Amino acid sequence: MNSTPYELHGETAVITFDNPPMNGFSHALRMRVVAGIEQAEDDAAVKAIVLIGSDKAFSSGADIREFGKPQMMAEPTLRTAITVVESATKPVIAAIGGICMGGGLEMALGCHFRVVAPKTQIALPEVKLGLLPGAGGTQRLPRLIGLEYALNMIVSGETVPSDQFRGSPLFDEFIDGDLLAGALAFAAKVVAEQRPVRRVRDLKVRHPKPEAFLLWAKTAVGSMAKNYPAPLKCLEAVEASITKKTFDEGLKVERTGFSTLFLSDEHRALRHIFFGERAAGKIADLPEDTPLRAVKSVGIIGAGTMGTGIGINFLNAGIPVTILETRADALERGVAAVRKVYDDRVKKGKMKADKAAANVALLTPTLSYDDLREVDLVIEAVFEDIGVKEAVFRKLDEVCKPGAILASNTSTLDLNRIAAFTRRPQDVVGLHFFSPANVMKLLEVVRGEKTAADVLATTMQLAKKIKKTAVVSGVCDGFIGNRIVAVYQREAFFLLEEGASVQQIDKALEAFGMVMGIFRMGDLAGGDIGWAIRKRRYAEDPSMRRFAIADKLCEMGRFGQKTGSGFYRYEAGRRDALRDPIVDEIVDACRKEAGITPRKVGDEEIVQRCIYAMINEGARILEEGISQRASDIDMVYVFGYGFPPFRGGPMLYADMTGLINVARAMKRFAQLPRVDQAFWQPAPMLARLAAEGKTFNAV
Ligand code: NAD
Repeated sequence: MNSTPYELHGETAVITFDNPPMNGFSHALRMRVVAGIEQAEDDAAVKAIVLIGSDKAFSSGADIREFGKPQMMAEPTLRTAITVVESATKPVIAAIGGICMGGGLEMALGCHFRVVAPKTQIALPEVKLGLLPGAGGTQRLPRLIGLEYALNMIVSGETVPSDQFRGSPLFDEFIDGDLLAGALAFAAKVVAEQRPVRRVRDLKVRHPKPEAFLLWAKTAVGSMAKNYPAPLKCLEAVEASITKKTFDEGLKVERTGFSTLFLSDEHRALRHIFFGERAAGKIADLPEDTPLRAVKSVGIIGAGTMGTGIGINFLNAGIPVTILETRADALERGVAAVRKVYDDRVKKGKMKADKAAANVALLTPTLSYDDLREVDLVIEAVFEDIGVKEAVFRKLDEVCKPGAILASNTSTLDLNRIAAFTRRPQDVVGLHFFSPANVMKLLEVVRGEKTAADVLATTMQLAKKIKKTAVVSGVCDGFIGNRIVAVYQREAFFLLEEGASVQQIDKALEAFGMVMGIFRMGDLAGGDIGWAIRKRRYAEDPSMRRFAIADKLCEMGRFGQKTGSGFYRYEAGRRDALRDPIVDEIVDACRKEAGITPRKVGDEEIVQRCIYAMINEGARILEEGISQRASDIDMVYVFGYGFPPFRGGPMLYADMTGLINVARAMKRFAQLPRVDQAFWQPAPMLARLAAEGKTFNAV
């Protein structure tokens, strides 16, 4: 059964939300809901009111298109609309199906009755944006599902299927067939039985030992929510649902909490990531209707660390993968690595054995390029050596069918050169995955000079299919991510030479919020990769300052975790980074050799020099057009390099710090002994924006 926005079905008025795709509560929709309730209240023939959405969504909550715009706050606000619904004198029934989240669930909680379709997705996800449900959700949900369950949902923001609430007063009835027909039948019953309207606000929250529970919850949430104020504010609001005498007093606590969070840096950062992730998929000169190439099969060259991880992404998406190696033993090792990932998932109960077996069955190992003749996409993940890449791409050019997309997972090599090894550079693109490739969310899509529009569009689409956050990068040494990491790491090496210790630098960066300090990260990634890149760069630019300490460690075969030692030492089978006196000796020796008298370096200087180095390089990347927008750089850093989400990424962090402050600090650093003075000149874009009082993210 379908309905127009306001329609009478016998004695029941049906108000249908009509704001596709997800029925976000835009200002216009809020107005229509209020008007619909008033019309129904005024019509003596109406005995009950049903609110319903589409098959897809009752409502996903706020309309994200209104975020930051005046309409969002304009009356009737969602709070007002819910009050109008709740205070109606005729019974209002929410008919809920599809998705019912955030403000959508808060609206449903404001109704007098709720009927629901099985498998409806229910959530109050505001905490994920650094907020709390601000339209009564923190007060009404505990009144229906109890303090503990409500707190859990609100603090985690997780989605729960409606079926889990069978038997709870949250839903009055489950409807298996047509939702509207079921809701109308329910409404008729309510009218026939003359059931009084039942307002959730009039219920009491019950708990046998609320004080003890809340005390425990405070400790648990407090320790989990480090750096994020929202979970504790959620707790405060939910607590008010039981400790405050009246519903309205509780609502006041919710409102105060919401306003505080709305103005917080953490909300700004998380909102930036939410929108940044969506913006990253938009490419200015690529029309939305660019035709896509079909990708139904994938070939992978090289079954090493990356090749196997990359393959798993496609197997998970149900896309057959043919993986090629030069030697049988390497091929077997690669297949075994793929199997192990699935076996571990099954052992941990994260995947059913038959699903894992079906995914593994989609993998075809081969030693022959003949098996790649028909694949739609090939991803090369062989050694990071231009000669090896050349041989592979010449071969691919020979064997692959016309129109096949030829991708390279190179971290730093020139994609345009790689494309030129083929007679079809328009089909070549970079697909730079991050290790472990089956886990990390980031995918840098490297757009070569000649990459065709449909190749770019297809790979961006494919990224979504394999659940990656894709960011487009132009061609340069290291693309967005590794180019910035190079200056970040370089600064850490300089700080080490000047007097800080490996431990102090990592601790300071971790206290700032980085998932891992730069030296721990280097030990995890493997020092040999960076060493190979450094050697190439030393050869390209003999005047380049050398990283004596890092080079010395690599010369000793200390490549990090995989060799049991790097900047730290590791005990067999463990990942704890332990201080190694040998590293201290090497640091001392290198300082002496370079004539450096170590000085005391403060933690603030460590963080500023490392992070501002990133920001300055980010500004250059932006200016050169390597990155389309500042938020793309932030997405690379948050999703690929462990930059703390509560700071939004390096470029937003710079905006929040104030570009003038960043530029001034950089000029100060340029005066320090031994630093690279030219490097600390603010990039022209940074200098200009700072002088004009602007930000990167408004560029
Ligand atoms: P790896 O040494 O683990 O694997 C490379 C594999 O390629 C080996 O199994 C090797 O036998 C195979 N191989 C070499 N030459 C071949 C050829 N001509 N034909 C077929 N197979 C061949 O290396 P990796 O870490 O997986 O890196 C692969 C690529 O991915 C490199 O370009 C690297 O820069 C890039 N990358 C690595 C990481 C990382 O963290 N390891 C991250 C992103 C990108």
